[in-house]
Amino acid sequence: MNSGQYRPSWAEIDLASIKYNIHQIKETLKEENKIMAVVKANGYGHGAVQVAKAAIEAGAEAIAVALLEEAMQLRKAGIEVPVLVLGRVMPEFAPIASENNIALTVFQIDWIAEAERYLDKASDTRLDIHLELDTGMNRTGIKNETDLNAFLQALTDCRRIYLSGVYTHFATADEEQTDYYMRQIDDFRKFADIIKKVWPSTVSWHTSNSAASMHYPHDAADYVRFGVSMYGLYPSPYLAEQAPIELKPAFSLHSRLVEVKQINKGDAVSYGRTYEAEGEEWIGTVPIGYADGWLRRLQGAEVLINGKRMPIVGRICMDQFMVKLDREYQVGEKVTLIGKQGQDEITMQETADLLETIVYEVPCIISSRVPRLYI
Ligand SMILES: *Cc1c(COP(=O)(O)O)cnc(C)c1O
Repeated sequence: MNSGQYRPSWAEIDLASIKYNIHQIKETLKEENKIMAVVKANGYGHGAVQVAKAAIEAGAEAIAVALLEEAMQLRKAGIEVPVLVLGRVMPEFAPIASENNIALTVFQIDWIAEAERYLDKASDTRLDIHLELDTGMNRTGIKNETDLNAFLQALTDCRRIYLSGVYTHFATADEEQTDYYMRQIDDFRKFADIIKKVWPSTVSWHTSNSAASMHYPHDAADYVRFGVSMYGLYPSPYLAEQAPIELKPAFSLHSRLVEVKQINKGDAVSYGRTYEAEGEEWIGTVPIGYADGWLRRLQGAEVLINGKRMPIVGRICMDQFMVKLDREYQVGEKVTLIGKQGQDEITMQETADLLETIVYEVPCIISSRVPRLYI
């Protein structure tokens, strides 16, 4: 009956929302634009395999991850669509990628010859690569025409490495101001013209992340790399207002009271006695703490109990924290930390604001100690 979950704290992942969000973005794109679902970092904390499968069911035709480990996890789970690793993988691991039919991102000229040597020694399968062009992130990617030509030259000398995609990544697609985005897309198109002239085979082109696919849908190429918005989150507060589609968040976080007690005027709660009761008060204990990613910075944040907001009082501990209740509740009462309860909702954005961070970071830091339940 119980699948090994004994603690009463859990993240609920609504796979129907993931599918809904993919359908929404497909509506705004052209017929020929395909979805590459980005499930790096365990699907932004939602669960890579489950999200990838849901995304494929909803029409995603490829998957992107950051690490070769993450790609292997998907292959082991039986996922067969094209998988692209976005981060650099060392050339010595090219044969492993090739054997598992995993495409790698490449942006260094020397990488090609080195990987080719390893591939020669190993199997006789080919390796698909996507070339990353750096048009303004200054993170990874080929940045100028000379290097691009040298890269293409190195490729023509290869028997095992096959260029199947070319992409770039935007730095500011989530912002209102458009100049920098326009410069990046212009540069990408100039690079693309060079590639098309000297490289005979067809490749897939892709540029848009979630922000670009909503902000500039007409610029979408063969694929959009759809990440944060597949999970129902807006890349920025600006796009939360301006995006052409309504997203449904897939992630919510819940627990249950494990203790309810009355304290008196002057009684202090938790380490350091940072909270002192002003009179008789009901205090509830929630079994989730900073080791679960519910960080100490969230002292003072609110949770939902019985559909009402109640404040976290006292320091957040490693495994537990306390809330000030409006009355007595029973042990086992549901507590919602992120998500809807009754008429109210604590959004990921609200939690991100309290943590002085962006929505991307919040589900990523909810640790693997918190089980993910799929609904
Ligand atoms: C993470 C990542 C994405 C997805 O970005 P979102 O903003 O989550 O849509 C796309 N492309 C690259 C290269 C990435 O690293």
